[in-house]
Amino acid sequence: METDVVVIGGSAAGLAAAITAAEEGVKIALFEKYPYLGGIAKLGMGVAAVESRLQRERAFPFKRDDAFKLIMEHTDWRADARLVRAWVNEMPRTIEWLENLGVEFELLDIYQSPEFIVPTGHLVKRTRRVIMPPDEAKWAGVTGEVSIAPDKPSPIEGGRTAVMITIMAERAREKGVEIFTSSPVKKILMENGRVTGIVAEIKGERTQVACKSVVIATGGFCHNKEMVNKYIGFEVGTDILVLHGVELTGDCIQMAWDLGAAQDYMAPAILTEPLLPYDPNLRCAFNQPFNLVVNQDGKRFVNEEKLGANWVHLAYAMARQRNKCAYVIFDENIRRHMEEYGFEYIYYLFRPIKVKLDGKQFDEAVKKALESKHSFLVVAGSLEELAYKIGVRPSILKETIDEYNSYCEKGYDALFNKNPRYLIPIKHPRYYATKYVLYMYTTVGGIKINERAEVLNVNGEAIPGLYAAGDCAASVLAYDFSLSYMLWGANLSFALNTGRIAGRNAALYTKNIK
Ligand SMILES: Cc1cc2nc3c(=O)[nH]c(=O)nc-3n(C[C@H](O)[C@H](O)[C@H](O)COP(=O)(O)OP(=O)(O)OC[C@H]3O[C@@H](n4cnc5c(N)ncnc54)[C@H](O)[C@@H]3O)c2cc1C
Repeated sequence: METDVVVIGGSAAGLAAAITAAEEGVKIALFEKYPYLGGIAKLGMGVAAVESRLQRERAFPFKRDDAFKLIMEHTDWRADARLVRAWVNEMPRTIEWLENLGVEFELLDIYQSPEFIVPTGHLVKRTRRVIMPPDEAKWAGVTGEVSIAPDKPSPIEGGRTAVMITIMAERAREKGVEIFTSSPVKKILMENGRVTGIVAEIKGERTQVACKSVVIATGGFCHNKEMVNKYIGFEVGTDILVLHGVELTGDCIQMAWDLGAAQDYMAPAILTEPLLPYDPNLRCAFNQPFNLVVNQDGKRFVNEEKLGANWVHLAYAMARQRNKCAYVIFDENIRRHMEEYGFEYIYYLFRPIKVKLDGKQFDEAVKKALESKHSFLVVAGSLEELAYKIGVRPSILKETIDEYNSYCEKGYDALFNKNPRYLIPIKHPRYYATKYVLYMYTTVGGIKINERAEVLNVNGEAIPGLYAAGDCAASVLAYDFSLSYMLWGANLSFALNTGRIAGRNAALYTKNIK
C-alpha cells in the first residue's frame, strides 16, 4: 500500500491534520486504533477561540497578544515561544475553518472564577444528534448509549465536541482521506534518516504502508501505568484515576523517541473531583470557598478559595498529602448562607445555571447520594461522628476547626490568608462532608516539536518527514495545566491548531521531496 501522508490517530489533532493535508492536494491515509473516531475529543465542551468572529463582534478585550503573554508567563517561558506564537496566531483562522466545515459555536457565558478566565472559549453548538453507542468508551462510570442532541437536556455539558468530531470526520471522507479504523499503527519506518512508511494492523492484518511523511496525533499515555509512573510520578488506580475509558497508551510517543525524537516536558491533565453524583446542587455546594478543606490527617493544607476556582492547584496540593485526597466540609450555617446569598462560583459544566442552593433539591440529592454505593457523602450530627466517618482523629479535626473558627471570628486567616468574605465558622450541626480524589483526563507532552510541528531530535534538528500534533506534543500545557482553564478550551485548541499546522507542513514536505 502507498500514500503521501500517514496520519496516526483519528481524533481532534489527527482529523485536523488529515483534512488540512487533503486540502493541499496530497493523498492521505488516517489510522485509528479504535473502531470509531474521536478519541477523548468527543467528550468535551468547546475550544479556545481568542479573536474569533464571535469575540470580535462583541469587542472582547482579550487578544492573541494577551493569550501569548498569558501562556509564556505561566510556563515561565519554558514553552517554545515560536510554537506558542504559531498556535495562538492560528486560533481565529482555525475557528473560521471549522465554521466553514459546518461546525457552529456559541460563546461560553459562565464566569467561573477570578482564576479561570473562561470567556476565551467557544462551546460547540449541539446542531445535530450524535449517538455514542454502548461499546464506545466514554466518561468514567458512564456506560450504555449516550445521545448528544440539540433538543435533549443533559445533566452535564460534556459531549458537545462529539458534534464537531462527527462533522470533521464527514468532511475528511468527502475530501478523499482514506480512513482505517480498528487499525493501530505498530511501527514507523525510516530509511537514511527520513520517514518512509508505517506498519499498521489493518483490521487485524499486519500491513506495510509506504509514505513520505507521518503525523503522530495519538494523544497522551494516561492508561500506560509504567509511563505514568516513570514520567509523571503517579500510580494509576492508586494515586490517580482516569476520567474516561479511551485507552491511551503512548505507544507512538515511545516510537518517536525510539526514532531519535527528543523528549519534552510531560504532566497529567490533572483535576480533582468529589465522589458524588453529577447533581448540580450537590456538586456546587461542595465547590464553594466558604467550606473547609482538610487532609486525611484532619489538617488544612490549602486555601479553600481554590475550591471551584482552580482545581489544578487544589489537585497538586492534594497530591502532596497522605492518600492524595481531601475532605470538604460544611455545616448548616454555611448551607443556609448558600441558600440565602447564593453560590460564589458557578460550575460551567452544569446547565441550567443555579445561582443559589435549592434546599429541597439538595436534600433529595443528599438522600440519593447516601443510598448510592458509588458516592462518598457523610452527614453527621457531631464533629466526633464526622471525624469517625471520614477516618481522621477526632481530636485533630477538633483542633483544626477550633483554630479555623478563631480565624473566622477575627476575620483573618493567619494560616492561608483566605479572603475574609469566605470565613464562616463551622459549628452548627448537621455537618456535611465528601471526599475529593485525583483524576486525569490524559497526559500532555512527550514529543518535542517546533512551530512547524516538525518533530525535533535531541540536537534540535527536525527529523525529515516526521510531525506531531495535539496532546502527545502539548508540553506547553504540562508546565502549568491551569492554563487549559485560564485559556478555556486550550487543549482542543492546541490539538486542532497544531493538527492543521502539521497537516499543512507534512503536505508541503511531501510535495517538495524528490
Ligand atoms: C471528559 C473530557 C472532557 C474534555 N473537555 C475538553 C474541552 O471542553 N475543551 C478542551 O479543550 N479539551 C477538553 N478535553 C481534552 C481534549 O479532549 C484533548 O486534549 C483532545 O482530545 C486531544 O486531542 P488529540 O487528538 O491530541 O488526542 P486524543 O483525543 O487523545 O486522540 C488520540 C487518538 O489516537 C488514537 N491512537 C492512539 N494510539 C494509536 C495508534 N498506535 N494507532 C492508531 N491510533 C492510535 C486514539 O485511539 C485516539 O483516538 C477533555 C477531555 C476529556 C477526557
